Amino acid sequence: MAVYGFLVLISIPGSLCAQQEYETARREMLAEVEEMVADTRSYTGIEALDKKVVQAVAAAPRHEFVPPSLRALAYLNNALPIGEGQTISQPYIVALMTHLLGVDENMTVLEIGTGSGYQAAVLAALVRHVYTIEIIESLGKRAEDTLVRLGYDNVTVKIGDGYIGWEEHAPFDAIIVTAAPEEVPQPLIDQLKTGARMVVPVGPQHGYQSLQVLEKQQTGEITVTDILPVGFVPFVKGDSQKISP
Ligand code: SAH
Repeated sequence: MAVYGFLVLISIPGSLCAQQEYETARREMLAEVEEMVADTRSYTGIEALDKKVVQAVAAAPRHEFVPPSLRALAYLNNALPIGEGQTISQPYIVALMTHLLGVDENMTVLEIGTGSGYQAAVLAALVRHVYTIEIIESLGKRAEDTLVRLGYDNVTVKIGDGYIGWEEHAPFDAIIVTAAPEEVPQPLIDQLKTGARMVVPVGPQHGYQSLQVLEKQQTGEITVTDILPVGFVPFVKGDSQKISP
């Protein structure tokens, strides 16, 4: 009993301590992100992040979404490898894209490129439901496990090719694409509601990519605004994009 009591005494303060360290690191990361937003305002036109976006980033435990061996780096304002040659985006980019989406609590959002599930977790705090598609099965499964374990009950993960979107749940109030296509897939444009926005990095893998905001006007016309140059992993061509013989 004495040994048991001793173990409890050291293990609870130990984990509390780690949680506090993560929280401190997360606050420092957010301060850096906000500074970067201010530094890049001449490109983006954004003076400051929406307060709700700041709160959502502050609430998302990024250390749970990176590989365990990289947890100590989870709150650096950097992209990090998540396996299969893919990355979890830089927190500044996650915050910026979330801000640009302009979401609210009544919205249903589609994400293409689940990756670690981190961007979906940030969005989940802001909207009614997040549908997210990942083409690499092992990543999609891991992201789903993480999201379920952490109690995110308004995120649905699907393994598949995001090129064709998710017809059953369309049209969407907002679409976020976190891998770079050379051209915006037409099915995604079709699955946007009138008045809705898509935030998407567009451009070749090793060439110039631009983070764009597309908006579907009442007339059906799509307006495009270039926000800033970015570097995303490529939007992979799945079976749905291969021309059949
Ligand atoms: N949003 C992620 C980061 C994603 S990295 C996060 O928060 O961690 C981009 C992801 O897009 C990769 O996991 C990649 O496998 C995926 N991807 C690339 N092409 C895709 C496609 N056609 N359909 C669905 N996912 C795709």
